[in-house]
Amino acid sequence: MKEAEKMITALVDVREDFPILKRQINGHRLVYLDSAATSQKPKSVIDRITKYYETSNANVLRSVHTLAEEATEQFEESRKKIAGFIHARYPQEIIFTRGTTESLNVIARAWGDKFLKAGDEIVLSPVEHHSNLIPWQQLAERVGAHLRFIDLERDGTITVDAASARINSKTKIVALSAVSNVLGTINPIADIAILAHEVGAIIVVDGAQSVPHQITDVQKLGIDFLAFSGHKMLGPTGIGVLWGRNELLNALDPVIFGGEMIEYVDRENATWAELPAKLEGGTPNIVGAIGLGEATDYLEKIGMPRIEKHVQALTEDAYRRLSSIPDVTVYGPSSPHTGVVSFNIAGVHPHDVAQVLDSQGIAIRAGHHCAQPLMQWLDVIATARASFYLYNSSIDVDSLVDAIKLTRRYFKNGP
Ligand code: PLP
Repeated sequence: MKEAEKMITALVDVREDFPILKRQINGHRLVYLDSAATSQKPKSVIDRITKYYETSNANVLRSVHTLAEEATEQFEESRKKIAGFIHARYPQEIIFTRGTTESLNVIARAWGDKFLKAGDEIVLSPVEHHSNLIPWQQLAERVGAHLRFIDLERDGTITVDAASARINSKTKIVALSAVSNVLGTINPIADIAILAHEVGAIIVVDGAQSVPHQITDVQKLGIDFLAFSGHKMLGPTGIGVLWGRNELLNALDPVIFGGEMIEYVDRENATWAELPAKLEGGTPNIVGAIGLGEATDYLEKIGMPRIEKHVQALTEDAYRRLSSIPDVTVYGPSSPHTGVVSFNIAGVHPHDVAQVLDSQGIAIRAGHHCAQPLMQWLDVIATARASFYLYNSSIDVDSLVDAIKLTRRYFKNGP
């Protein structure tokens, strides 16, 4: 058996850990290929959430009663686990947010409004999710800064040379996704971080599609801020992380004001609490944070290097097999390519593709994937997208390929 094939079958048994995958959809075994939108949840995460509500539910960081102390301990324990998961130096560098979108908005507001001025430049790429574009558009408008976009290679990859051509002494922020949610490209973040720092800029990384699938070591990457979402990495919805280097987070002013984020308040003035509370105004998503901590335990138990190899092997196999079907165009490079495969069948709207696949029990996404500038670059209105995670196997790729062949025949020849 080839190495790649061994990897593809290696994680099949984890499917048992995901209760929802036992469902039948439209009379077929559920083939869930929409994890880039949101992942399914293992029983351990679901049970952890229930256990918290059944045994320890209370507000955190306020009362001194036993339940409140237990809740605070579990909440802070999760922060430590997540810090370990991304190799952060300190737990207080983990700021809980609602997700990637909120994290990026906070960085743009708190760092951008404070440190950017008219004429400064923000370097992005045309593949960014709207969450890593619109906060920068808005910031640029507020302070009079300019957006600059890295040129893509023909297959959509970003090279260090192309990044270097856009980064100059006016650059103050470089904001890039580590993995594209449409093209499955893996960007050379560590090298681009060096370029950013050479001109005194900071680098902000959208890790929504990378943190679930790869080992993330923020120190080795040499980055300044990282945003990611719990729900794409087996955790609950409504919880995410803003990680930043301690000294950068310390320099930020809060953007949400109210309970828990203060040190001292009188009628006219207030001073701010230490990190992380300063950036977590109001009651946080306590159970979300605890569920996300449990999700990182599960991922580490399976092993991130295994997950990374498995997902990349599956994705590249799907890419290769879909590319060989007549009338099917697959986007992005053939390798390395991870997590997602975006494609179109000539003459068939991707929504129709998704509908036919749903009738076969296969869940994929169709649309612009919150990346309209990339759709413009690809010169398409939308794509179909299959995305993979640790619970998928080569059986799922077989089902996808068969269903795409069926869809093509159906629209070419009629039912
Ligand atoms: N960035 C990328 C690359 C994504 O794929 C997504 C979600 O699909 C986001 C940002 C936004 O994540 P969320 O909706 O969890 O905030």
